[in-house]
Amino acid sequence: MAAQHSKTFICKHCGRDVPYAAPGTHHRNHCPFCLYSRHVDIVRGDRKSRCGGMMKPIGIVERPDGEFLIVHQCQGCGFISKNRIAGDDDDTVLSTLSRQSLDDRLL
Ligand SMILES: [Zn+2]
Ligand SMILES: [Zn+2]
Repeated sequence: MAAQHSKTFICKHCGRDVPYAAPGTHHRNHCPFCLYSRHVDIVRGDRKSRCGGMMKPIGIVERPDGEFLIVHQCQGCGFISKNRIAGDDDDTVLSTLSRQSLDDRLL
């Protein structure tokens, strides 16, 4: 594990300061303001992907246990991943996204 001392990172999509600590999840993997993520993992949390592309939120799915997940698609390589919603993710952006995923029938 590389030493990571900073408590925030700058979102490459919206440019806001994002705290690493997130309520309801062990590590932050997307921006709570615009929900974009970056393609840095091959396996969750490993930071081994060389892609580094922006992961665009393209929809919301509900797991059988009722937990909601954000579906991200990498704009660089097309890789798709699903990520837990953090407790401080922007509700307005989340509800817009879930409407979009119904409208576009992406899922
Ligand atoms: Zn952002
Ligand atoms: Zn990628």
